[in-house]
Amino acid sequence: MSDQNSKSSRRNAMKMGIGLATIATAGVVSQPQAAEVKTPFTVSQVYIPIAGSSQEFPVRRVYCIGRNYAAHAREMGSDPTREPPFFFQKPTDAIQFVAPNKIIDHPYPTLTKNYHYEVELVAALNKGGKNIPFEKALEHVFGYALGLDMTRRDLQRFMGDQKKPWEIGKSFDFSAPIGPIYTVDKVGHFKNGAIGLSVNGITKQKADLSQMIWSVAEQIVKLSEANELFPGDIIYSGTPENVGPVVRGDIVRCSIAGLPDLAVKII
Ligand code: MN
Repeated sequence: MSDQNSKSSRRNAMKMGIGLATIATAGVVSQPQAAEVKTPFTVSQVYIPIAGSSQEFPVRRVYCIGRNYAAHAREMGSDPTREPPFFFQKPTDAIQFVAPNKIIDHPYPTLTKNYHYEVELVAALNKGGKNIPFEKALEHVFGYALGLDMTRRDLQRFMGDQKKPWEIGKSFDFSAPIGPIYTVDKVGHFKNGAIGLSVNGITKQKADLSQMIWSVAEQIVKLSEANELFPGDIIYSGTPENVGPVVRGDIVRCSIAGLPDLAVKII
């Protein structure tokens, strides 16, 4: 695009009320390019610390897969053998960083009387693409983290029963606690290994990552058919069976073999 054309398309864009960032790379779904845009206030970018690095991982989108372990799919009332994967999103600012080797306060949310934990492996991408082939899928993974897909189960079910979006049950402030991201060059890929969660020292969830119905690689393939993926996207890869409620005062401890445990106190 010539400088002149660029200026006139910007003027037109302003008339039409379209953000300059969109026009800067017309035809391509783009990340906002903040440096080019004047704004009346600032909006925070969400970051996740990268273990062993002074850099932090900038988060673009938070994807989550539903019912990705057979026993959990059954406990949620569906037949895991017949259903293709489905995904939902949480807002990036739902992320709550949970430092390892500490107990981090996690607020019990409003509107629910049945607040559930779901321990999950999270894959963090540093490469995007559309229709990513299976053989190349894991090349898009920058690293992995331990995460919690916290859920207002009563609202998720209530909305689902009414055939309404279940967003209020899944996508709310603090609903995505997560530990630091460990890079693939340090920890490799997580295709198997123990995943677990305890409440007040009592084991609640205990499974193996190999029991995922759709592997991380397959999730990247499927997601990239629905949306173009970009660096900064993270994927919560599903929870095993025995999800359950917490109340204020509970200590929830999460583990995945090969990563430090995370612990939160529900307050
Ligand atoms: Mn989940």
